[in-house]
Amino acid sequence: VSFTILECKEFFMLRPKIITGNWKMYKTIEQTADFIKAIAPLVADNPFEIFLAVPFTAIQTAAQAAEGTKLVIGAQNMNDATEGAFTGEIAANMLKDAGAEFVLLGHSERRRYFHEDDALINLKIKRALSIDLRPVLCVGETLAEREDDKTQEAVKRQITQGLADLSARELKNLILAYEPVWAIGSGLYATPEEAEEMHQFCRQVLSELFDPDFASTIPIQYGGSVNALNAKVLMEQADVDGLLVGGASLSLESFSHIIHNSESTPDEGIL
Ligand code: PEP
Repeated sequence: VSFTILECKEFFMLRPKIITGNWKMYKTIEQTADFIKAIAPLVADNPFEIFLAVPFTAIQTAAQAAEGTKLVIGAQNMNDATEGAFTGEIAANMLKDAGAEFVLLGHSERRRYFHEDDALINLKIKRALSIDLRPVLCVGETLAEREDDKTQEAVKRQITQGLADLSARELKNLILAYEPVWAIGSGLYATPEEAEEMHQFCRQVLSELFDPDFASTIPIQYGGSVNALNAKVLMEQADVDGLLVGGASLSLESFSHIIHNSESTPDEGIL
C-alpha cells in the first residue's frame, strides 16, 4: 500500500473530535459519581473523546470514577497565580492534584459575571500550559456585537489576546471553543452554516497568528444550546471538531443522546 504525500499530510492533520459537558454550578459529589458510573458503559464504544468539566468539589471523585473509562475529567476555571493569599481561589496544580486533565478558560459566564478580560485569560492559559493542564479557550461574540456587525472583530480579539506571547509549540494541546454568547443557555443556536463560517474564521485567525499547519491541528468545538436534535448536523461541518454542551450535559439521557446522535446516520438518529 502506498500513500501520496498529500494523503499522509491529511491523515496526520486529522483532528480529534471531542464532546465536552460543562456542568457549571450543578451536581454534588454523590450525583457526580452516579452520573459517571451510569454514562461510562453507554459511551464506551463511541468514537469521540468525552470530556466532563465538573465543579471543583467533585473533581477528585469524578477522576476516580472515570479511571479505566474513556471519560476525561477537567475543571471550569482556575486562578492564574501559582499560589498565594487569594482567599477562595483554586490554583492550577490543585486541579491537577485532584485529577483534572483540562480546564475551561474564558467561558462567557466568567467574562460576564466575574469580569474576566482577555489579559487575565491569557495569564491563566500560560499558567495552565506551564504545568501541562490542557486549556480550552472559550470565545464568542455577544448579541450586541453580532447586531453591530462586530462578530469577527470580537472573536479575533479574544483569540489574539488570549493566546498572546505564546508559540505554536507551547499551544500544541490547545482546544478552542466557539460559543456565541447569545446562544448559551438561551435555546437559540447558530445554524450549521453560521457555525462553520465562524469555525473557519477562527482557524484562519490561528493560521495568521501562528501557521496553517498548527491551525489545522487545533480542535474547535461549538457551544451554545446544543441538544440531541442539532448535535449531528453541527458535528457534520468540516471545521466543527466537537461540541461544548452546558445544560444538556446535566441529564444522562440528553448527554448520551447527543453523543450517540453525533455519530449516527440520519436514519438512526435518536430523537
Ligand atoms: C456552555 O455552558 O458552555 C453552554 C454552551 O451552555 P448551553 O449548552 O446550556 O447553552
